[in-house]
Amino acid sequence: MVIAAGHYRRVTRLPAILAILGALLAATSAAASADDADVLVQAGHQGRPASCAPLHVKACNLGTGASGERERDWTPIVADEAARVLRAHGYTVIRRPADYAEQDTARAAVFLHFDGAVTCASGASVGFPDTTSRAFVDAWEKRYLAFFPYRFVGENFTENEHRYYGFRKVDAPEKLLIEFGEMTCPAQFAWMQPRLRQLGDTVATFLMERLPR
Ligand SMILES: [Zn+2]
Repeated sequence: MVIAAGHYRRVTRLPAILAILGALLAATSAAASADDADVLVQAGHQGRPASCAPLHVKACNLGTGASGERERDWTPIVADEAARVLRAHGYTVIRRPADYAEQDTARAAVFLHFDGAVTCASGASVGFPDTTSRAFVDAWEKRYLAFFPYRFVGENFTENEHRYYGFRKVDAPEKLLIEFGEMTCPAQFAWMQPRLRQLGDTVATFLMERLPR
């Protein structure tokens, strides 16, 4: 009986200790993986589909594409250029792909996409949570629509834009999902394809204006 009781205690205590250790380790690694910067720039769909299974992403949206070009190859070009310009001006940047484990903090976060639709039914648009300021949204629309010569189809025009999963992964007062235009519309595609870096420059200029140092 004594041996049995002792054995019983040992096997019940060990998992309890492991659970505490596990919780401590989880808290430590969560703190270590959180990042803090002026700006978070996410390239929409970048890294998919490979990143979906390890990060338990069920809705593994691979993005749109047209004429042999994929949205998920375009968004990193724009995001890298925006990050490069911001860093060159002394801003700290967290550059994220579609899926990642970290929870970040930033002054502003932008999520970059191109749209796909029934040919030429779409155009540029933006999505944002209710916490993003009107001034931030207006400043982007004013700047981008002076550059982009096609349709602006609206704000939060789909639930996916309004409730984008990336918004929950960063603590930032200003969050904006940017759809630069419709890849599946040949005219918009032809205009955007040679201007991917310019789109990144436009995002960087906008952010620097909104986030004075
Ligand atoms: Zn997209």
